[in-house]
Amino acid sequence: MVKRAPGKVDMEKLVSLCKRRGFVFPSSEIYGGLASCWDYGPLGVEMKNNVKRAWWRKVVQERDDMVGLDAAILMHPQTWVASGHVESFADPLSDCKSCRQRWRTDDIKDGRCPACGGELTEPRMFNLMFKTFMGPVEDEASVVYLRPETAQGIFVNFQNVLNASRRKLPFGIAQIGKAFRNEITPGNFIFRTREFEQMEIEYFVKPGAEEEWFQHWLKERFQWYLDLGIQPENLRLRQHGPDELAHYARDCYDVEYLFPMGWMELEGIANRGDYDLRQHSSPPEADSRASGGSGKDLTVYDEESGQHILPYVIEPSAGVDRGLLAFLLDAYHEEEDKDEIRVVLRLHPALAPIKVAVLPLSRNEKLVPLAREIYAQLRRHWMVQYDDAQSIGRRYRRQDEIGTPYCVTIDFQSLEDKAVTIRDRDTMAQVRVPVAELVEELRGRIEGD
Ligand code: ATP
Repeated sequence: MVKRAPGKVDMEKLVSLCKRRGFVFPSSEIYGGLASCWDYGPLGVEMKNNVKRAWWRKVVQERDDMVGLDAAILMHPQTWVASGHVESFADPLSDCKSCRQRWRTDDIKDGRCPACGGELTEPRMFNLMFKTFMGPVEDEASVVYLRPETAQGIFVNFQNVLNASRRKLPFGIAQIGKAFRNEITPGNFIFRTREFEQMEIEYFVKPGAEEEWFQHWLKERFQWYLDLGIQPENLRLRQHGPDELAHYARDCYDVEYLFPMGWMELEGIANRGDYDLRQHSSPPEADSRASGGSGKDLTVYDEESGQHILPYVIEPSAGVDRGLLAFLLDAYHEEEDKDEIRVVLRLHPALAPIKVAVLPLSRNEKLVPLAREIYAQLRRHWMVQYDDAQSIGRRYRRQDEIGTPYCVTIDFQSLEDKAVTIRDRDTMAQVRVPVAELVEELRGRIEGD
């Protein structure tokens, strides 16, 4: 048995909460759903944006050696030849001769079908890239791919970014965007899907400086999850063994989270050497579909040595959806409170979809104007919900369950003393605060480090 932190949730409970409260829905559900595709609901889209914002803030906004990029999903097909994806981005696939189920051969330990024990076919390689056609003619010449990673959009723009932003080594380019992989065995909710979002960094350094920067990024990226509230006992770094390393990687670590299915990858951090820029600058070959790059010079002029050098690359590559799943699982707690079970998402305020709930004690018309005024004022700063339905206790519970860090309650006393109550999600402690100081008080709690 894998040890779980106290209050850990099983996946079904989380899937159910996500659907009920509007975090994540099965895709096209009215048509019976589409395997392994999920849609983010009103709260899910807020939280997902918060995860991306927290990442962007940390790796772009707060650093002076990083810039951003947003490349197209469709790229010149030769990109995927040069990167090695056409040739080798494939998993071995076997079919069961009895029940016809399809399996990723890597996942099968004893050579027989996990569903019925039947005999399996010899593995054949299956390329994970989604293909489509560009333009009206569906032939080989019009094939394009949906990108299986965002990274290549960064490499092909390396010279553009370098020239436009007048950077010197070391510097990095960050990108967030959708990626697509025709996974053989998707599953575990949003952990492995065929359409997902990545947050990737390519950090370019002088050859010789790669180990120092590799260590830097390992530390930075591990700490990011802890700073956003992941419990340290549920997070670890694991180095890839020599048999696991991708052909381009010199070294690689995974940041792993203790999911209900066990320790699994959240983010990979790889030392890619100069593999990518070398591939993309290699000369186009006569039969360009076989191999070959752009033939463009992707070196950087180094003033110190007076030489043109091909940078080395450190790549921290994270999944938005996997990160969001880990943040939700880690935040989920069930607690006993007055003979009831209180479900509470202890999300970091930066990630919580709703930062504040405004709750008039009742629908009494005397309370409404002040409550509405406070609601309007707070919405200028954060995502805020107004809730006046049912008892105040029920309303606190509803906010706890979606991770809202603070509730502001307006009562009859508020009309006299122009003060309201702030209730803390985690401690359930309540303090009285003058309305005039409410925004600053909440700002300190929500945005303070
Ligand atoms: P895995 O071994 O789980 O298939 P990977 O090593 O192929 O992942 P990378 O190519 O390193 O993954 O991609 C970087 C990150 O993108 C992963 O750490 C993960 O967070 C995310 N990711 C990759 N594939 C998927 C997927 N099918 N669904 C959701 N997220 C994914």
